[in-house]
Amino acid sequence: MPLIARDALDLSADQRDFIALAQDFALNEIRPRAREVDDAQTESPLDLWTKAAKIGLASFMIPAEYGGGGLTDMVTQLLVQEQLCYGDIGIGNFVTSSGFFADPILELGTEEQKDRWLRPLTTDAPPVTALATTEPDYGSDAAGIQTRAVRDGDHYVLSGQKTWISNAPYAQRFVIFATVDPALRSRGVTAFVVERDTPGLTVGKPMRKMGQRGIVNAELFLDDVRVPVADRLGEEGQGFFGLMRTFDASRILIGASCAGLSRAALDYATDYAKNRRQFGKPIIEHQAVAFRLADMAVRTDTAHLTAVRAAQLFDRGERVTTEAAMAKLVGSENAMANTWGAVQTLGGWGYSQEFLVEKWMRDAKLEEIEEGTSDIQRLIISRALAS
Ligand SMILES: Cc1cc2nc3c(=O)[nH]c(=O)nc-3n(C[C@H](O)[C@H](O)[C@H](O)COP(=O)(O)OP(=O)(O)OC[C@H]3O[C@@H](n4cnc5c(N)ncnc54)[C@H](O)[C@@H]3O)c2cc1C
Repeated sequence: MPLIARDALDLSADQRDFIALAQDFALNEIRPRAREVDDAQTESPLDLWTKAAKIGLASFMIPAEYGGGGLTDMVTQLLVQEQLCYGDIGIGNFVTSSGFFADPILELGTEEQKDRWLRPLTTDAPPVTALATTEPDYGSDAAGIQTRAVRDGDHYVLSGQKTWISNAPYAQRFVIFATVDPALRSRGVTAFVVERDTPGLTVGKPMRKMGQRGIVNAELFLDDVRVPVADRLGEEGQGFFGLMRTFDASRILIGASCAGLSRAALDYATDYAKNRRQFGKPIIEHQAVAFRLADMAVRTDTAHLTAVRAAQLFDRGERVTTEAAMAKLVGSENAMANTWGAVQTLGGWGYSQEFLVEKWMRDAKLEEIEEGTSDIQRLIISRALAS
């Protein structure tokens, strides 16, 4: 994979060096483990987590004042994410998963809270963390969550259930969204940082799933979990704003992950098509195959460029909810189409577990679902058109 495919971005030497480090880790550490982690079903590669942490890949996005790498701009995050997910999207997303926990803290937290919870993420052995908002009856309708936060002196008492929480089986610390009054909907949503060993918090069994098994999911059960008021992020009712700001960033990064996966599928299928011969010539010389690869190249670059545009606006401090929704929508649908195209290009071998393309097709599907389905991204984009 070229470092950045003929990109017009003007990158500094530091950015290029770090992206090259991510590329090296993706090719030499992540890709060789992709099949084994998929086969394991419900085990994250914790050894890769530690290795990534030691070379700064797990915390480069944390501001330097809290001990992180300080490469906080969204363009760098996007380019690194793309490289890691070229190796394997599930493992790549696991390696950078601290960012999803850190974002609401950066958005809503006090200086003391940022120092308390971000600094540990930058050590050589960082805690695995998670963000929990989805509930069994409230997924797309995130403003409707029912997990209650009831004030009791200098504590809140949290009760409810969360589902599909990425990293939950390993997480030592969670950002949990609850409501101080369900009738207030989004204006009642409030965010808390909760330690795993807090009495009343239990984590369910790892959930078996279609793809992206490098990240393991589970339910959370909250039964009168007492959380100090000092561990609330922002004011009561500010949680939904923090969550939406987190999604503005994370949806751009999903676009980037998908651009990396799309390029992996393109490269794999192109190499195969140059070497596989049918009817006396390489199959890339059959126009149907060549045109499919051309479409895959266009989809890869479209995913990349849509995410870059959103990242550049984000870095200028602009509100990017619509552009981030576009980056996620285009990226995920293009990754689905490209991984399908790779399976098709390999013919019968595309369907075999000897090759990774069947796994990539399963991996891609998640990105059309998590952090807002494609329907929800279309809803966001269409609302912007209607406003
Ligand atoms: C592998 C995985 C990892 C995840 N990780 C996390 C995590 O770390 N933390 C977390 O909090 N959550 C996580 N989630 C949850 C994820 O964000 C939700 O699954 C997602 O938002 C969809 O919610 P739902 O599953 O309840 O589907 P539903 O909301 O029930 O949607 C079902 C269908 O109805 C459609 N639909 C719903 N409302 C509308 C509407 N208004 N207009 C049009 N169509 C609509 C949807 O598009 C979808 O097709 C994860 C999910 C998965 C599968």
